[in-house]
This record gives sequence, structure tokens and C-alpha cells, in this order.
Amino acid sequence: MSEPKIGRVLAASLHQAIDDLLPMRVEFYQSWLTATRIRQGALGHGRIAAVISFLRQEGDEYDAVVDRAGRYAADWTVGALPVVARTLLRRLPRPIRVRVVLRLAARMIRKLHDDCRLRALVRRDIAVVTLEGSLFCDVREPVGAPLCGFYAAVLERCLEFFGMSARVQLSRCRATGDGTCELIIHIGSRETRPSAAGEQPVAKPLVAPFECSGVLAIGCAERCRPVGWIPCVPPVAAIP
Ligand SMILES: [Zn+2]
Repeated sequence: MSEPKIGRVLAASLHQAIDDLLPMRVEFYQSWLTATRIRQGALGHGRIAAVISFLRQEGDEYDAVVDRAGRYAADWTVGALPVVARTLLRRLPRPIRVRVVLRLAARMIRKLHDDCRLRALVRRDIAVVTLEGSLFCDVREPVGAPLCGFYAAVLERCLEFFGMSARVQLSRCRATGDGTCELIIHIGSRETRPSAAGEQPVAKPLVAPFECSGVLAIGCAERCRPVGWIPCVPPVAAIP
């Protein structure tokens, strides 16, 4: 039986975050996270698990790298949604918008690696998110602190995109010995300006997770802009 495949957005976001924050270590990580494999969508669970395992040994840099990777993944995925969909979503009443955005984030995370499931329970300005199958929290021995910062960053960024500030607390984690991972999201009461919170993707991806007119390219956004609109197909993040 073949091992489960990893979404290109997850692999590309980790690659980009490592390049940003650990530039001296890029060559080392490229033993597992090769640009060709990312483009081909040929990265398996084992290679990504190895990368995450080595990242954990980087000490404090782990949290920074997975946080940035989560924000990239959210930016690229939400940025690939049609403008009209983003605009309509932003106009929803806030209580409905929170639920729709969390549902969107859940679908996005499921596409990042198919063995992950997210459930959210929303009460007023608090959302309790249960995460099953976190790839980042798969450890042999319990560790001292939660490891699911990647998902926290995805959720925070998705909410920011649609005008809602959020602070995510990692309350339980499989890596620390709990049965499952749990994230508590405190959603701010004020509306944030969407343009300030990520109207445009924040990164120029080194390894584009998207296809442009069938050609796997570096810097999708840069290639599309000068020639006007070219259909960009998000391979793992299509959200109807
Ligand atoms: Zn966790």
C-alpha cells in the first residue's frame, strides 16, 4: 500500500518558511524537501515527518518556522479563491462568517494531508477546535509543549483574511500526552481591515504550489500578473 501523499501547499510552505528563517539549513532540508518533488506532488508522509522531526530539534526556531509556514499556507490557499467569493464571505454577518471561515479552514487543512480532521464548536467569540491526526504532533515520546502551532497559524490567518482578529491558545496536544489536539480561538470583537490582514499573498513562493496553465512554475503570482489573468489551479486547496 502506498503511503499517503502530502499536499503541495504544505510542502511548499515549509520550504519557504525554512528558507526565510533558517537559510543556512536549507541545503540540509532539501535532502527531503526537494523542489522537484514538491512540484510533482510526490512528497510522501515519511519525508515530511522527517523534516518536522528535524525542525523540532532546532529548538525555539521550530515554533517560528511552523507559524510562518501556516501563514503562508493560508495566504496561498485563500489568495487562490475567486475575488467574488472572498468579497461575499467578508460581507456575511460576523457570527456566520466565523463558522464559514472555520469550515473553510477545516477543508483546507484536510487537503494539506489527508489523515487530518478538524472540528470546531463556536460559542460567541470563542471557538474550540479539535484536531485529529496532526502531522506535527506525531512523536515517540511525550514532549513538554504543544507542537500544533502550524494549524494555529492557519486558523489565525484565515480569520484575519476575513476581517477578524484572533488569538489561538494551544490547550491540549497529542505530543504532550493528550489523546487529541485542542485549540481555543479567542476572536477579537473589532473588525480588522482586510487589506491589512492579507488581501494579497504575503510571500513570493520559491516553489509554487499552484499550476499556471498546466505549467508548474516558480513564482505563480509573478508570472500571471504581467500578462493579465491566466487560470491558476490550486491543486490541493480548491474550495467550492
Ligand atoms: Zn498537537
